[in-house]
Amino acid sequence: MTRAELRRYLEMLELSGEAVVVHAKLSSLGLDEGLDPYTFCELLVEAVGSGTLLMPAFTPSTLVLPPNPANGTSLGEPVAFSPDLATDDPVAEALRHFPGALRSQHPTHSFVALGPLARELLSTHRDNNPLGPLKKLNLHRGSVVLLGTNLQHAVGLHLALEARSLAVGSRRIALRVNAGSHIERVVIDNFPGCSRAFDKLEALLSLEVIKLVPLAQGSMRKIPLRYLLQLAHTVLEQDPLALFCNEPQCGDCSAAKARLSQRVLS
Ligand SMILES: [Zn+2]
Repeated sequence: MTRAELRRYLEMLELSGEAVVVHAKLSSLGLDEGLDPYTFCELLVEAVGSGTLLMPAFTPSTLVLPPNPANGTSLGEPVAFSPDLATDDPVAEALRHFPGALRSQHPTHSFVALGPLARELLSTHRDNNPLGPLKKLNLHRGSVVLLGTNLQHAVGLHLALEARSLAVGSRRIALRVNAGSHIERVVIDNFPGCSRAFDKLEALLSLEVIKLVPLAQGSMRKIPLRYLLQLAHTVLEQDPLALFCNEPQCGDCSAAKARLSQRVLS
């Protein structure tokens, strides 16, 4: 995909003036050489115009993990979050370096925002509200933009689980450098779990509601967050376990399912 094609496809998504959270995977888009993450962000910023861009800049390396139950060894030394800690998403990492971009200070689930609503979207991002910026985005009738990614990347869907108290009990500890330059342990409640099963909603997306730009490989889509959450609620109404995966080795989903079946029994 050339720079001109990328610009045209982004235009077709009609992002101008909107508040959007972007989940992009450049390796899935077949971009020409030279279209690096920073250039990609420049075109994205241009497409959004007077709107606001939001991107997850997550840092799971700050998590204090329990020892591996199989052999008691540690699963790796955590690093402490600081505003300069790089995220492993190259696109969010590029956006973070844009003039005017803001980043929230959540140790594991920080977001980068750029545009007139940036401060507002990040304003209630507390440690126990890891997806707070997406709640704000929903209040502002924002959309989820998937660029070479699928619904497994749409972390906003965890809001449906949280709203239905299906994600209760997920607590983690992470490290952060505090204002006094000391490393502190931060307890995070409502920690979002696994997203593997979110693609079950793919088949339900209506082309009358979403914007779809098919590509040679993959696609670009804009999906109103409110609509996506409505779909999730409809599915969860039928089956509260629908958005948990069936991978036997998935600790998150196994634990959530066990907790929920206990709740049904009690
Ligand atoms: Zn899972």
